[in-house]
Amino acid sequence: MADTKSYGWAGKILRVNLTTGSITTEPTAPYEDYIGGMGLANKIIYDEVAPGTDPLSEDAKIVYAVGPLTATGVPLAGRTTVCFLSTFTTDYQVVDAHCGGMLGAKIKMAGYDAIIVEGKSDKPVYLHIKNDKVEIKDGSMVWGLGTRATTEVLNRLEGVSACVATIGPAGENLLPYACMMNSRNHSAGAGLGTVMGSKKLKALVVEGSGTVNVKDPQALADLSDYMLREIIGSNNNHVVPSTQQEWAEYYDKGTRWTARKGLYWADAEGDPIETGEPKPGEINTVGYRCMKTTKDEGPEAEKYTIKMNGCHSCPIHCYSDMRVPNSKANGGYEITGNTCVPNFPFSVYMVKILGEHTSVKASTEDGLIWDQVVGGTVDDLGLWCNYAQLYRDIAHCVSAGIFEKNLPADEYNMFDWKKFENNDPTIMVELLTHIAKNDNEMSYLGHGPIVWCKRWNDMEWFDTTASCLINYRGWPVHHAIESYGQVGGLLNMIFNRDPMIHSHQNMLQCGLPHELKQEIAAELWGGEDALDQTKNYTPVNDHKINFCWWSIVTDVLHDSLTLCNWVWPMAQSPSKDRNYRGDLDLEAKFFKAVTGKDVTTDDLYKAAAKIITLQRANTARGMKDANGNMGCNDFRKIHDVMTEWPFTKDPDKQPFTEGTDKMEKQDFQKGLTMLYEKFGWDSELGCPTADCLEYYGMSDVEEDLKNLNLLP
Ligand code: SF4
Repeated sequence: MADTKSYGWAGKILRVNLTTGSITTEPTAPYEDYIGGMGLANKIIYDEVAPGTDPLSEDAKIVYAVGPLTATGVPLAGRTTVCFLSTFTTDYQVVDAHCGGMLGAKIKMAGYDAIIVEGKSDKPVYLHIKNDKVEIKDGSMVWGLGTRATTEVLNRLEGVSACVATIGPAGENLLPYACMMNSRNHSAGAGLGTVMGSKKLKALVVEGSGTVNVKDPQALADLSDYMLREIIGSNNNHVVPSTQQEWAEYYDKGTRWTARKGLYWADAEGDPIETGEPKPGEINTVGYRCMKTTKDEGPEAEKYTIKMNGCHSCPIHCYSDMRVPNSKANGGYEITGNTCVPNFPFSVYMVKILGEHTSVKASTEDGLIWDQVVGGTVDDLGLWCNYAQLYRDIAHCVSAGIFEKNLPADEYNMFDWKKFENNDPTIMVELLTHIAKNDNEMSYLGHGPIVWCKRWNDMEWFDTTASCLINYRGWPVHHAIESYGQVGGLLNMIFNRDPMIHSHQNMLQCGLPHELKQEIAAELWGGEDALDQTKNYTPVNDHKINFCWWSIVTDVLHDSLTLCNWVWPMAQSPSKDRNYRGDLDLEAKFFKAVTGKDVTTDDLYKAAAKIITLQRANTARGMKDANGNMGCNDFRKIHDVMTEWPFTKDPDKQPFTEGTDKMEKQDFQKGLTMLYEKFGWDSELGCPTADCLEYYGMSDVEEDLKNLNLLP
């Protein structure tokens, strides 16, 4: 008998219309060329949401998608990609938000590759999914609650094995900077919370008791064992420890392989647990390698550390779990902690800009308290920070007197601004809660810098080194020029938000000596000159463009499969026996083991290049030209435009000299041309061409762009 099972993919997509209440399913198969996750979700948005749609209108849709590897047992395959129209950038173009936690695995185990939410409810609801049973339920009892309380109420109501993914007050109030939270501290941003709020959709509550069919379970188990023994490092695939250890040839104090003798999860249940010296090859100690609490917050965090936490099927666990009574005492939460920006929002992003307005220092007890109060508060409000832009903007508005100048006197006087100087973090709880209300002047900060800088006549701030805004369409740096110069700079232009790419950054900070990384670069991207030393850059070259292209396609691939790009791809390894070489074919090997489809790494990279090309095509349809007319394919002049400060910073230094990452304009334009050509896009405009759309197998998109006169 023919084997009709679907391997990897669940095989069906759930569609929920909140206007009509209709709940249907449809097959995933038509979308499998787009893999899943980001690819699948982008294709649905491309097909079903007309360019120029208001992101908060009834016609706007949200697609929550997982991929063929999600919840199969492949390491770090627990993420979800959500696709919708942005609420905070120019022209409200298609964006992806990503989250870890438990949501992706629950969606998959409930039997779905994606959930399409369309229409609008006229009253608060939540979507309850329990395998085949799907219901739109009254959500009025949780409307108005923060994400923590909502999660508790809905878990009590529907059972603790369900994953609650919810918005907070920011989303309900339609603040453009709003996110969705699941598993306490895993957020999906870019305005997802706002779009859910506009649909009166408070939460998804997802429970799944099914399994995912795997074509070759033994091959998957063997690959997983091989990956954990030989290939994987720590968080960000850092492959050498941060302290000198007997077993290690190298160490680098900047890495996230922070475990060492004498470092404890000091507040673990029962007795403290020592992280010790987990060595390569020991698969049962991989989870101790990254102690993110002390990495992010300094040595004071050790005494508060309960454990390291993380997403479904992740052996690394980069999320901090801490018990910090003084966070609660100052308006935050006692059980707290995160990873990345929400783990250090105040000490890293605000202290320097606040200057004399604060005495708090990073890596101190005070810094930790402020950070955890702020991090816990934004997560509970469902407030998104635009990769720390909100924090930089608040600090600037305090220190430069922008609030004092622009807020109505009554509003300004609501706050005791001396609290910043008096080391009282409750001021941040008050400000963030006020912003999330979206009914006052200060709330415009949560509409993004395009809105508030114009409104408060502070465009000067928009384009400064301190603001960190890298693109005029409204997003800040995310491992940009400081991460391999042109490589990071170019990839910060390509999406419709900050790029969320870690492939290049993982190489930068993996801890191996630069010369060894250059050897790897020569093997992977054609030449050692793909990698420059930090702040000592050379002009753009083919190998840098190969590296940049690879960074983009691996990120898109991971967001489609879905794998965590904060550890994948496996370009390097901690194994001296392998001479620190990783294995870039692992995605294809896992893909084959799970789905039975015999693909090569090149096949997967081509599929990922197709997906980002689709997003560029969709962007061209909705992008306005310089005269405000919708439909524009001149990405070079309209979209991929870097702010000025990267070209003017360090006024005493010239580009390509030691001590600066200053960019050079002609070189940057040349880099854009080379990157466009690498993708097959038009070398002048940066838009998809008929030839490349044919090459990627997108004749439908080619036809659309032709009809819209958007093909070069
Ligand atoms: S490394 Fe961190 S973000 Fe990535 S899957 Fe693991 S816990 Fe989640």
